[in-house]
Amino acid sequence: MKILVVNAGSSSLKYQLIDMTDEKVIAKGLCERIGIDGKISHKTFDGREYEAQIDMPDHTAAFKCVEKALISGDAKAIDSMDEIGAVGHRIVQGGAIFDHSVLVNEQVVNDIEGLADLAPLHNIAHVQGIRGCLECFGDKIPQVVVFDTSFHATMPETSYLFALPYEYYEKYKIRRYGFHGTSHRYVSARCLELLNMKKEGSKIITCHLGNGSSITAVKDGKCFDTSMGLTPLDGFMMGTRTGTLDPSVLTYIIEKEGLSAKELSDLCNKKSGVLGVSGVSSDNRDVEAAAAEGNERAKLALEMQRYQIRKFVGSYIAAMNGVDAIVFTGGIGENSAELRKSVCDNLAFMGVKIDDSINDTLRRGAEGVFSTEDSTVKVMVIPTNEELVIARDTKEIVENM
Ligand code: ADP
Repeated sequence: MKILVVNAGSSSLKYQLIDMTDEKVIAKGLCERIGIDGKISHKTFDGREYEAQIDMPDHTAAFKCVEKALISGDAKAIDSMDEIGAVGHRIVQGGAIFDHSVLVNEQVVNDIEGLADLAPLHNIAHVQGIRGCLECFGDKIPQVVVFDTSFHATMPETSYLFALPYEYYEKYKIRRYGFHGTSHRYVSARCLELLNMKKEGSKIITCHLGNGSSITAVKDGKCFDTSMGLTPLDGFMMGTRTGTLDPSVLTYIIEKEGLSAKELSDLCNKKSGVLGVSGVSSDNRDVEAAAAEGNERAKLALEMQRYQIRKFVGSYIAAMNGVDAIVFTGGIGENSAELRKSVCDNLAFMGVKIDDSINDTLRRGAEGVFSTEDSTVKVMVIPTNEELVIARDTKEIVENM
């Protein structure tokens, strides 16, 4: 069976076609500027490429372009859309409704739309993606939705509740939902597989460090706590996001600068974090380059980022009363040997030891353990593969239809 994995944004649509017989990606691509003008970039596993500027007024038009790229021209991957067994969509917010992946029907689409308050930018775009897919391919290709929040549905109340008056949880469902769940799920399961460990009794900390970052405590193979909250703004500082703040900072800024809720949200989501502190960039590579040239604020931003990550890892060791393995993933987690070392060095007191020569060789795409044989905790890099998780869930659901 071949599965088309889709990640629909408001003006973009990322896709991968995966052959589930060997779980290999046959083709992948990106439609951009949907609703503006339109561009598609498409590539096959054997390096054939197709790029075109095509008018894409909506997601339906974008799916038509994907179909054309997949079944025709020099970079075609399949002979007909009939070869595709199902489409799997990535959905950011499943709220308290979806604790596992499900087959799409009208009720499911309405529920995803109904959760838009909790992820306005994402969920509305995902619904456009699902509807566009249905309009383009009809109902002959089943669709499945896989939620970023589902993996975190196992958190106990003590982890997911905020210490607000309880009626805010009852009235508005204000709680920690967590994000990047598909990634945390993939790398924690892969970690157990690589270390040949059972779920029961296991304690793993997964660090997904990219433009958006989150850390999850995984106990018995299930999410026990995670750093992102009601929205992906919570946790520690990211490329452009503040992470956790003293809430009084926000009321103080409102008083001083008279910002609206939207302006405050933009400040915390888009202008803060590594970008806000360094004044250089939200991209760690730029900030590392500036720091190497002596830029003091760039150095400070990187130090703060590392310090906050260390604190989260430490707090989850305490929360789980121990840890068997720590996993790094995401653009920063997979590439920055310095960051990994700085997190592990402060755990030396509890017997964490890393092999610098292995750590230094682990870069994007490489999977491996870089703790020493006698380290009390296994420390490793596992490149994430959210698309594969989506494809596997999709396959399982359509096979059991
Ligand atoms: P996203 O969260 O958007 O999926 P990624 O997981 O690709 O993004 O992570 C992007 C981040 O990874 C950026 O901050 C980028 O600077 C960082 N990154 C990528 N390559 C390297 C590298 N070689 N060294 C340090 N950071 C890197």
